[in-house]
Amino acid sequence: MNHYKCTYCSAHLNVNGYIVLSFKKKHGKNGVILMSEELGNYTVYLNPDLKFEEGEKSEFYCPCCSKSLQFKEDQNKVRIFKTDEKGEEHTVIFSAIFGEKSTYQLSEERQLSFGEHAMKYLDPTWYLKE
Ligand SMILES: [Zn+2]
Repeated sequence: MNHYKCTYCSAHLNVNGYIVLSFKKKHGKNGVILMSEELGNYTVYLNPDLKFEEGEKSEFYCPCCSKSLQFKEDQNKVRIFKTDEKGEEHTVIFSAIFGEKSTYQLSEERQLSFGEHAMKYLDPTWYLKE
C-alpha cells in the first residue's frame, strides 16, 4: 500500500483509502478533510458546515503535529511525502485552492502530474527544493 506522511513528524496520514488532514478556512472555521489517496481523484469528504467554494484557498495542517503543510515557497500548494508499495519515496504536491485540480508526484527519477489544471505549472522540479 501507499503511505502518505507528514513532512515534519512523519506521521502516517492515510487511512482506509483517504488522506486525513486538518485545515483552516479563510474565515476561521476549521476541521478535518478526507481526500482520496488515489492521485488525480479529487473526491473529498468534510463536514457540510465547512463546504468549500470554488476558488477558495485553505491552510492545511498535519493532524498529528499541527504544523502547516503549506509549501513555504508557494503558499498555494500543499506538500506531503509518499512511500509507495515498492518502498520508493516521493514528494506529493497539490493545490490548496478548491477546484484547482493539479497534483504532482515527484521523485529524483520521474515526475507524474494529475488533474486537468496540472499543466499550468511548467517546472514541477522546483518543488523538490527545500
Ligand atoms: Zn506532522
